[in-house]
Amino acid sequence: MPLTNKFHAPDVFLKAIRGHPYSMGDAHFSVTGLIGPPQVGRLRKQHRNQIVSDVRDEVWKLLGSGVHAVLEGHGDGLTEQRFFAECDGIKISGAVDHIKNGQVSDYKVTSVWSTLRGVNPNWEAQLNMYAWLMRQNDMEAKSLQIVVICRDWMKSRADQDNYPSSPIVPISIPMWSNEEQQDFITERIRVHTAENTIECTAEERWARGAYKVVSVDDPHTTAGKRYDTIKDAAAYINKRKTGHFKVVDADDVKYVRCESWCEVADFCPQWQGEKT
Ligand code: SF4
Repeated sequence: MPLTNKFHAPDVFLKAIRGHPYSMGDAHFSVTGLIGPPQVGRLRKQHRNQIVSDVRDEVWKLLGSGVHAVLEGHGDGLTEQRFFAECDGIKISGAVDHIKNGQVSDYKVTSVWSTLRGVNPNWEAQLNMYAWLMRQNDMEAKSLQIVVICRDWMKSRADQDNYPSSPIVPISIPMWSNEEQQDFITERIRVHTAENTIECTAEERWARGAYKVVSVDDPHTTAGKRYDTIKDAAAYINKRKTGHFKVVDADDVKYVRCESWCEVADFCPQWQGEKT
């Protein structure tokens, strides 16, 4: 991928980023690719040589790679083990950070904020797909956890409200049944291999205020604030003791990923179509 350096980082950063090419072997999809939006995956493949990134936008991945590289050298059990398996003729690959006595761990270098919102659905899907991959390779996953390394943790805020006591935060991830894991993977393969590209959802676009709750009797009456996910909007309705409400799409939604973070935004018919 062509790399720019608009903000004049020292050359060593360019070399380090270029020196960390990602590989998923000869698989059709990686676990994270299957969890991600089909449209992003397809545009990424189609425009592989045209997508340009800047050092500024790659540095957090570099930090994550560094943490993984250091921890890989010290974990007992299996570390950075890549698994392959086929489902419906599609080869899937996933690299598991650490396995010890059946406990599967994945490291995430990210913000404190991401630990405060409960279990991230994508993390839950990723770990359960690893459990599925392990089962196809005659290994059993007994428990799943994400270990967050908080890059912005502040000691002065430790233990206040829900703020973590340490920058290292292990989070237990629910294990799905074998059938749930299989159904999820089958469905993700279906959406990624569908003939027509499926547009990104509001959640996949990191929409801010995508949904609102309105009265069933008077749809012009909005109740509560705007919500980023249908789940959050539905939770608001469930808490109400009286009235009949439904969730509807809001106008003037801010799509954070499309605006600032999607590497294929310039080639995306959905986003470019909305901008014109
Ligand atoms: S620009 Fe937005 S809608 Fe288009 S592929 Fe990226 S995330 Fe999806």
